[in-house]
Amino acid sequence: MERYDVIVVGLGPAGATAARLLQRGGLRVIAFDRERFPRYKPCGGCLSKKIDALIDFDISGVVEHTISGAVFTSRFERELTILSERPIGYMVQRERFDTLLVEMAKAEGVEVRDGEGVVEVVEGDGHVRAVTEKGTYEGRYLIGADGPFSIVARTFFPDLKGLTGVAMEGEAKVSGEILGKLEGVAWIDFGYVPYGYGWVFPKDGAISVGVAGLKQEVEDIKECFKGFIRGKGLESLTFSKLRGWVIPAFNDTSSRLARGRVALVGDAGNLVDPFLGEGIYYAMKSATIVANEVLHGWDSIDPGRVEGALRSELFSEFEAASKVADLVYNYPDLWYSVLEQNTSLMEDYYRVLRGEKDYHFFLEDIRRRIKGSFILWLKVASSILIKKVKRFLRAGTRGPSRR
Ligand SMILES: Cc1cc2nc3c(=O)[nH]c(=O)nc-3n(C[C@H](O)[C@H](O)[C@H](O)COP(=O)(O)OP(=O)(O)OC[C@H]3O[C@@H](n4cnc5c(N)ncnc54)[C@H](O)[C@@H]3O)c2cc1C
Repeated sequence: MERYDVIVVGLGPAGATAARLLQRGGLRVIAFDRERFPRYKPCGGCLSKKIDALIDFDISGVVEHTISGAVFTSRFERELTILSERPIGYMVQRERFDTLLVEMAKAEGVEVRDGEGVVEVVEGDGHVRAVTEKGTYEGRYLIGADGPFSIVARTFFPDLKGLTGVAMEGEAKVSGEILGKLEGVAWIDFGYVPYGYGWVFPKDGAISVGVAGLKQEVEDIKECFKGFIRGKGLESLTFSKLRGWVIPAFNDTSSRLARGRVALVGDAGNLVDPFLGEGIYYAMKSATIVANEVLHGWDSIDPGRVEGALRSELFSEFEAASKVADLVYNYPDLWYSVLEQNTSLMEDYYRVLRGEKDYHFFLEDIRRRIKGSFILWLKVASSILIKKVKRFLRAGTRGPSRR
């Protein structure tokens, strides 16, 4: 049986990053992915600008568009363009971006086994084992980076709870006229997708269009997607790679993500921002945190430390993001009115996307602006009351509410 220091399951942004950093730190790493690269992953491919602080290599070769703001709508109306003076994010195609990360891991010396899925993971006395269709591999540490249906999470962290988002995304080649309107911006619609939003992102000669919302609120994601493209006037386009997928948003600050010789990173640990659904940055960030902790304590890894590091750097931020999500997605009309009257609020959110501020700052910012306006405050109070009455009436006719 072949022996390694670390076995990484999954080679998306989380796995490729963890593998690369651990190998660079002097460990012998093997990493598996059941797909062959380049592989497709349903994703809008928007990287927030704060990614710059996380990487020490050049991604400009795979960045297809840079955005500095967005054109917002509320159920396709009340258009509002809010631009920043500086960029807020990059648009990539996941095939190209993820392949770059895998190539970087290979270049560092990671033994990359793509096209080889892991079918079983086992923890023994002083070691971990991964069984694939082709063989059995032993390591001293195991990292689960195998996405939302993670075999590592199911085996070692069966109680892990996330907030499941459902999403559908497709890409369409478009004319210069549409791309011209999307120059430097994304289109974001609030209110049409229940507890979520719809997007149109510019790519090289194409657009990525998608909808994402909370599973228990979205009745039929395909119908939701169709309605969204109709609403945006894009129904005549031919969409390729149209796929539904899940977004495992974080919602449990008591989550355990490390135990014994195993840790989870990225979607496998539900480490997706519950407001924006941003997962690529947090996949790479969580992988970086875990890799640093593993390298730091390699002689005797303390799972409490690994978990503590994830907790202190990510959980509290996600908790604040979750409060923002509740406010915005439970009361989208109200949120839109707040935004229309306070466009500088979005400039503050752009600072979060650039990594200059965090979600706590943004949450307080929203609260402060609502408190500062008597009219907004009244609207909030009446929206909350109306929502509560509606829920009460629904519960009376359909049994207990799920939220
Ligand atoms: C429609 C949609 C749009 C999104 N848009 C954005 C966006 O614009 N920006 C953003 O930041 N995030 C976005 N996200 C979230 C983002 O795609 C994920 O959070 C991100 O891919 C997480 O990276 P990861 O490495 O943890 O997992 P993944 O990228 O899912 O990688 C996991 C890998 O594990 C492999 N794997 C799974 N099981 C096994 C196994 N048993 N053995 C071996 N390999 C295995 C898979 O093949 C896969 O390659 C979106 C998600 C969806 C669904």
